[in-house]
Amino acid sequence: MHSAHSAPRCGAKSKRSGARCNAPAVRGKRVCRMHGALAGAPRGDAHGRFKHGLYTCEKLASERAIAELLLVSRRGLQDLDHQPPGESH
Ligand SMILES: [Zn+2]
Repeated sequence: MHSAHSAPRCGAKSKRSGARCNAPAVRGKRVCRMHGALAGAPRGDAHGRFKHGLYTCEKLASERAIAELLLVSRRGLQDLDHQPPGESH
């Protein structure tokens, strides 16, 4: 277990003094949480508006694929209906 003091340091520099921030960097990032490591909305459960995962990108994409599949298969059935009678034995 790392202590906060053995962790990699934040590389952000102060605009005015030029001094390094030197706060412990967020794991996997080069800056501390004050300097943008956590920028952007959190994913999934950590997001304040995350309810149940019903509307995640993956889900919406699969629903789109299913809708397309239905559309294509309906078109296919229509094509069958348009075949002249007596030729589909
Ligand atoms: Zn920092």
